[in-house]
Amino acid sequence: MQPKYSLIVPIYNEEATIPEMYRRVAAIMSRLDDAVELILINDGSRDRSLQMIRDLHQQDERVCYLSFARNFGHQMAVTAGLNFARGQVIVILDADLQDPPELIPDMIEKWRQGYQVVYAQRTQRRRENWFKRFTAYAFYRLLKHLADVDIPTDTGDFCLLDRQVVDVLNAMPERNRYIRGLRSWVGFQQTAIRFERDPRFAGEVKYTFHKSLALAVNGLVSFSKVPLRLSTYVGLLSALMAIVMAFLVLYWRFFEPNSPLTGFASITVAIFFLGAVQLVSIGILGEYIGRIYEEVKGRPLYTMSEIGGFHEKPPSEVK
Ligand code: UDP
Ligand code: MG
Repeated sequence: MQPKYSLIVPIYNEEATIPEMYRRVAAIMSRLDDAVELILINDGSRDRSLQMIRDLHQQDERVCYLSFARNFGHQMAVTAGLNFARGQVIVILDADLQDPPELIPDMIEKWRQGYQVVYAQRTQRRRENWFKRFTAYAFYRLLKHLADVDIPTDTGDFCLLDRQVVDVLNAMPERNRYIRGLRSWVGFQQTAIRFERDPRFAGEVKYTFHKSLALAVNGLVSFSKVPLRLSTYVGLLSALMAIVMAFLVLYWRFFEPNSPLTGFASITVAIFFLGAVQLVSIGILGEYIGRIYEEVKGRPLYTMSEIGGFHEKPPSEVK
C-alpha cells in the first residue's frame, strides 16, 4: 500500500522522548485523511533508542525505520528519510517535540492550497539559553545577508515537502547537505507558517556546540562565496593603506627632516596583522577545498545496518 503522507523523524539517543513523541505523532496520524508512514531514522544511537524503534515497528505497521551503522549527523538522517519516503507529502520533524506535530494538519492545509514547500518559522525560542538564542539569531541574519539564495531566517528543518520537491532534493548528488538551504535553493511555491518553539521535551540537546558550529560553517560555505572574496577585499584595503603610508613616509623624509621616523612597534603590529589576514584567508580557502575533496571522493552519504518496513531498495537512493 502506498502511503500518502510520510513523516520523517531523525533520532539520536532519544530514549527519553520516543514514547511521548510517538504518542503525539500517532494522535495526529489518526486524524489525517489518508494512509501515513512514520519513518524513524536511528542515527547511531548509543542508548535504547533502536530497541524502542523496533518495538514500535512491531506494534504499529505504519512505523518503518532505518538504522545507520554509526552517527552520521542530523542532516544525513533526514537525507536518508527523504531517500526512502514513499508518500506524496513528506514532513520532517525533530524527535524532541520542539517541532509540535500538531502543526502538521495546518501544513497539509497549505499544501492543499497549492504550496509545495511549507516551512515552519519560529517566532520565539522559549527557555533556550541566551547563548543559543543569540548565536542562532546572529547566524541566521548573517546567512541571509551572505547567501546566494534567499534562506528565510529562523527556520529549521521542520517543514512539509511535496513529492516533486523531494525528487529534486534526492537527485542532488552533493554530500554537504544543508537541508534548509537546499530547500530554498530548489524554488517552487513556498510559504511559511509561524510557531513558537517549545523547549525540548526531555533529554539533552544532541547538537553540541561543535556540531552546531559545523552546521553553521557548512551553511555559509555551501551557500555563499562571500568568505572567499573577503580576502580580496582585505588585501585591497591593505594595499591602499600601504600606498598612503608610502606617500606619508616620503613626505616626512623630504619636507620634515626632524620627524621621528622610528616605528618599530607599528611595524611589528603591521606584520602580525598581515600574517593573521593571510592565515585566515588560507583557512577559508581550506574550508572550500576540503569540501571539494569530500565531493570528489564520492563515498556514499551513509551506511545502513538495519532496515525495517521497507520491502525494496529506495527508488531514489543517491548513488
Ligand atoms: N539528531 C540526529 N543526529 C545527531 C544530532 C541530532 O539525528 O547527530 C537529531 C535529534 O535526535 C533530534 C534532532 O536531530 O531529533 C534535533 O536535535 P536537537 O534537538 O538536539 O537539536 P536542536 O536543533 O534542538 O538544537
Ligand atoms: Mg531540539
